[in-house]
Amino acid sequence: MKHNMVDLVGQYKKIKPEVDGAILKILSEASFINGPAVKSFQKNFEDYLGVKHVIPCANGTDALQVALMALDLKPGDEVITTSFTFIATAEVIALLKLTPVLVDVDPDTFNIDPQAVEAAITPKTKAIIPVHLFGQSADIHTIKQIAKKHDLFVIEDTAQAVGADFTCPESGKTKKIGTFGHIGCTSFFPSKNLGAYGDGGAIFTNDDELAAKMRVVVNHGMTTRYYHDEIGVNSRLDSIQAAVLDIKLKYLDEYSKIRQEAATYYNNAFASSPKIKTPVTADFTTHVFHQYTLVLIDVDREGLMKHLADKGIASAIYYPVPLHLQKAYLDPRYKEGDFPVTEALSKTVISLPIHTELTPEIQKEITDAVLEFVEK
Ligand SMILES: *Cc1c(COP(=O)(O)O)cnc(C)c1O
Repeated sequence: MKHNMVDLVGQYKKIKPEVDGAILKILSEASFINGPAVKSFQKNFEDYLGVKHVIPCANGTDALQVALMALDLKPGDEVITTSFTFIATAEVIALLKLTPVLVDVDPDTFNIDPQAVEAAITPKTKAIIPVHLFGQSADIHTIKQIAKKHDLFVIEDTAQAVGADFTCPESGKTKKIGTFGHIGCTSFFPSKNLGAYGDGGAIFTNDDELAAKMRVVVNHGMTTRYYHDEIGVNSRLDSIQAAVLDIKLKYLDEYSKIRQEAATYYNNAFASSPKIKTPVTADFTTHVFHQYTLVLIDVDREGLMKHLADKGIASAIYYPVPLHLQKAYLDPRYKEGDFPVTEALSKTVISLPIHTELTPEIQKEITDAVLEFVEK
């Protein structure tokens, strides 16, 4: 492919001296685990997010698992999440023997529908995991109100939207997403907006008690060395990844801006095509475009992807199969047709390359190729 979904090499080249120096420093100190780089990144990320506690961990999936482990839930307790997300969100619920309860999404933003959340609440419901999909915030204000009314925990999955801002429609206050719920979780998978050079993740909270508990859980449930008060996991962010992230964090807002400009270019190019619905951003959030995702209207999607591939242009489908139709998650509670919005989206969405190294020249090639196919 000439144009891939991301260009991590191009991005690295621009920060190479800084990154190489930081990595070599860790090699020369052999401070691989829990070194000063981890503490530094933790502190800087807390400041960036405006949150009291960041707990670095090994990946975004662990972040979600540890968050759930900190809530002392019992097998069979229900956790509500969206049917249109990456599998990790439901996976950790199922792994902990909790019951994932899926709900449909909003057709414009692709994010979890708060009305559907409220309708799915039962006496067994203990938590809600909204996912801020593709780079914009779910309606976290309404979700928080519902959670408060029913005494539920909110864990935000902000793996795809780190850096986005949410403005509370009531107070008018703007804060980083991931800091509204009881716990926020994110991923530093290399292609995420704040990506490491390997795996990484973080959990954040303003709650001192939950923070203390999660710090113990990520470290084998250990309070004092070799005294284990509860069952934990081994989930650490290694120092090399922390050093890379500490550098990239300084550029995150700039990276978000480049993605937003690239999205605007695409939006303008597709604005007059009746076959393409461009992304809709809700008015309470900024959009950091982890993905740039179109909804196709009466277009042969496979044909379009092949047309693009023939021209060396990558495209992808996030996500081709809704959670309730995934083989490992088939459940007599659900059947095809239960989540019509998610099911329709899974058949009609397509994501185009979006990253920090796009240029108008590359984007023109991509938009010309898309329009050539859909308008033929
Ligand atoms: C990437 C992602 C995760 C998992 O992150 P990993 O670091 O790959 O474990 C969880 N939820 C969503 C929505 C994601 O996109």
